[in-house]
Parts: sequence; structure tokens; C-alpha cells
Amino acid sequence: MSLAAFPEVVHVRAPGKINVYLGVGGRHDDGYHALATVFQAVSLYEDVIARDADDFALSVVGVADPSTVPVDDRNLAMRAAKLLASATGYTGGVHLELRKSVPVAGGMGGGSADAAAALVACDALWGTGLSPNRLHELAARLGADVPFALHGGTAVGTGRGDQLNPALAHGRFDWVLVPSEEGLSTPEIYARLDTHRAENGALADDPPLSLDVPIPVLQALRAGDPHSLAACMFNDLEVPALLERPALDDVINDGLHAGALSGIVSGSGPTVAFLCETPESARYVQGELNDAGRTALHVHGPVPGARIISA
Ligand code: ATP
Repeated sequence: MSLAAFPEVVHVRAPGKINVYLGVGGRHDDGYHALATVFQAVSLYEDVIARDADDFALSVVGVADPSTVPVDDRNLAMRAAKLLASATGYTGGVHLELRKSVPVAGGMGGGSADAAAALVACDALWGTGLSPNRLHELAARLGADVPFALHGGTAVGTGRGDQLNPALAHGRFDWVLVPSEEGLSTPEIYARLDTHRAENGALADDPPLSLDVPIPVLQALRAGDPHSLAACMFNDLEVPALLERPALDDVINDGLHAGALSGIVSGSGPTVAFLCETPESARYVQGELNDAGRTALHVHGPVPGARIISA
């Protein structure tokens, strides 16, 4: 009788995300804000290569400034591997190599994509065979955006953003992304939103703002209609991101001037996401922004969540 053979190397790919809609409610006692959001996974990917090992180690390639990504237990992918090991009683280790393309601290959930990819990769490498539900549960313990990186597609997120329901989306949406060289801290942007609201009359014990994803957003996605979606894209974190980084306003204006249907700060920023009418118009907008000296990327969504490329 032969023992089941597990792979020695597993390669998993997971997508970055855009928040097509992001409504932020009140701050709970645990520090998290109530959210109503629509995520769309886009074709800008993190690749995680997991190699069998006795201990835990992590390396990163693809970032301009390596000091921006921790390689110890602060790294979300490392925490994902260790969480899976402790949840399953696995006693070995793993060497994780992160090949990053999603901008670091860019509001596109790059660290969350790494964590989702590490969970899927280690589960295959170690043969722990967790059910999708159990993987989702571990993902939610790692961070609010990790479950979405596992599932991908287009989804409504409520609670902290981790309670997911798939949203029907027809066809493909073309986006142009403009990352910034320097990231923004998500906790600082939320804190800035709280301060801004307090200064503008909202009291700490006000009931949470009404938190529902507007029906027109869901209808536009279902119809696959970029014009309708452009008309109702919204992000409550855009105001604090612009207060923190006023130059983003110029980026948004440049993209709109180049012909994008709409431009929005992605998540907590500073990446700006432009929705375009067609792949051709996205290439045009990308070219115009590049000619103006900005770095612009053309991506599309929705795309699948974390998946094994080779094992
Ligand atoms: P969030 O998901 O909180 O909105 P983000 O998408 O804006 O974050 P990330 O690139 O995920 O930004 O990283 C935010 C911070 O988390 C980084 O500045 C870094 O210090 C830390 N971090 C932990 N793990 C990772 C990882 N695997 N990749 C990048 N940053 C990580």
C-alpha cells in the first residue's frame, strides 16, 4: 500500500479587489466599523509559492521598497499559515514566497490576497483538506477582506465586510488603476473619517448611518452596464483619503478628462480606480495617463478568488 503523496511545491494565485461601493457606518466597541460594500476581484494578482519545510519562513519579491512588507509574524500570509497549522494540528512548516503585484497599502487588499493564497496553498501542501466553510472561517479570523480574496468574483460584504453574499454580475468591467508610490494606512483613514464626521456634527453615539448597498449598484452589475455603474459608484473613505492625500484629486480629474466614465478611490486608497466603457477605451485612458507621467494599469473584473495554479 502506498502513502498518499503530497506536493512539495504549491503555487496559488489570488486577486486584488476594488470596492465598487463602500458605505461606512458607526464604529463598534471592537474598533471595527460597520460596512456595506460591494467588492469586485480584478486581474491584478498576488502569487504565493509554498514549499515544504520543517520551519516557517517568508520572502517577498516584486516590491520597490522591501521595508514596506514585514517577513515575520506581522505578515498576514505568515499568520495564515500558522493559523492553519494550529487549527489542524499540523506540526511541520512552510517556506512562503510572495510575488506581489497588488500595490502595498494601496487599498486593494494585497495582504488579504496573500493570506487567502497562503491558506489555500498550505492546505494543499500539507494535505489538511479543509472544507470551503472551514477555510472561510479561518480567513475571517485573519482579516475582514480575506474571505473575499478566497471567493473572488463580485460580492456584497456586510458586518466588517466579511459576511459575503455573491452579487450577480454580467460580462466584464474594464478598469484603469493608478497606484501611488506611497501607501496609506487603513486604520489612519478610518480614524480620519471619524474625526471628519465628528467635526461635521455626527456624535459618537449617533445610530449607525443607514447601511445598505443601493439597489441601482446591484442592478448595474447585474445588467453589466458600465454607464449605470459609473453613475452610482461611491466610497465613504474617499473624503478622508483626499484629505490625507489632496493630490489624488488631480489623478481623478486626469482620468475623467481622458474619458473614464467614473473614478473612485479604491478602499482606503490611495489607488484610484477608473471605470471605462470598453477594453479599447480603457487602453486609451491608460495611454493618456501614462503619457501624463502617471503609472496606469488596465485590469478587468470580475475574476475568480484564490486558486491553485500548479501543485
Ligand atoms: P487593507 O486590506 O487593510 O485595506 P491594503 O490593501 O491597503 O490594506 P496591504 O498591502 O494589504 O494594504 O497592507 C497593509 C499593511 O499591512 C502594509 O503596510 C504592511 O505593513 C502590512 N502587511 C502585512 N502582511 C502583508 C502582506 N502580505 N503584503 C503587504 N503588506 C502586508
